[in-house]
Amino acid sequence: MAKIKVGINGYGTIGKRVASAVAAQDDMELVGVTKTRPNFEALNAVRKGYDIYVPDSSVEAFRDAGVKIAGTLKDMYAKVDIVVDCTPGNVGEMYRDQYKEAGVKAIFQGGEDHALTGISFNSTANYSESWGAQLSRVVSCNTTGLLRTLYPIDKKYKIENAYVTIVRRAADPGDSKNGPINGLEPSVSLPTHHGPDVQSIMPWLNISTMAIKASTTLMHVHTVVAQLSQPASTDEIKEIFRKAPRVRLVRSKDGIKTTAQIMELARDLGRDRSDMYEIIVWEDGIKVVGNTLYYYQAVHQESDVIPENIDCIRSMCKAESDPCASVRKTNAALGITKE
Ligand code: NAD
Repeated sequence: MAKIKVGINGYGTIGKRVASAVAAQDDMELVGVTKTRPNFEALNAVRKGYDIYVPDSSVEAFRDAGVKIAGTLKDMYAKVDIVVDCTPGNVGEMYRDQYKEAGVKAIFQGGEDHALTGISFNSTANYSESWGAQLSRVVSCNTTGLLRTLYPIDKKYKIENAYVTIVRRAADPGDSKNGPINGLEPSVSLPTHHGPDVQSIMPWLNISTMAIKASTTLMHVHTVVAQLSQPASTDEIKEIFRKAPRVRLVRSKDGIKTTAQIMELARDLGRDRSDMYEIIVWEDGIKVVGNTLYYYQAVHQESDVIPENIDCIRSMCKAESDPCASVRKTNAALGITKE
């Protein structure tokens, strides 16, 4: 079977990771990436041997900077089966029209609304809904994190209500513009958008969310309280998480007490960019009391959505009909194991 030809529009935090992940798949070919400015990330893309495509308005800037380009955005569209749009949130609408006109499929990210595509994606919860679709959207890092753990729990125990507080990192590690740098900032618009975003994939789930921005760049942390419709034991819940394909249990008593040690673990694992694609759940922080389940989880915001983008490509391009097979293939290529 011919390889799926993939282009990445927007080579920032998410785009560069999706590009590396596509390049690591044996059933996909990375045709190129787009850049608007000839900055250090563009130079790194050149070093990696990626072809660079630019908007018409950027051709001169790249020529002046001496950075070789392979063509314009339109040239890239002509060579690909699918574009993974990793541009900043809210520029999607303009690009959606361009992709449609060029006749290419497109995946958007969580910074765009569900309404842009009408379909949102998570590998475990609804892989098949994007089957053959022209457009889809991989939900945000926090929503992906919640779906990875709530979906398997709901499948077995039917969640009556989930209450989640999200402690959000204030900025990505490479971002020196956002904050706060010393403070905690509650999201006062309540409930936050995260609950409805989870419902774009699990519309039946009663979920309420609040969020606080914290002065850290490493990871988000969620506190989850879920009312189950049937009794469960703490050990049964641990077993569900143990089996979930992109959930990793860690233990406070092994020295992983904070997000700092989780990131150290990711470095020790030798992952590309020290990424932690899995949702981390503290095993010794899982507890069931009666029908109420409590747990904490941590989300590596820059990377948990990357394997989802790869599976979404396979679903939209009809390359693999079995969600579990796609997840296994992606995990193997990215080094995501249970060890
Ligand atoms: P980013 O700012 O790091 O990268 C965006 C890239 O797009 C940059 O290289 C920028 O130069 C380029 N760009 C800007 N305007 C453009 C345009 N008009 N056309 C083409 N390229 C343009 O952003 P990001 O953090 O990678 O976020 C991308 C998307 O992924 C957003 O929807 C965001 O909400 C979502 N997302 C981000 C994270 C995260 O942790 N950063 C996690 C999950 C989802």
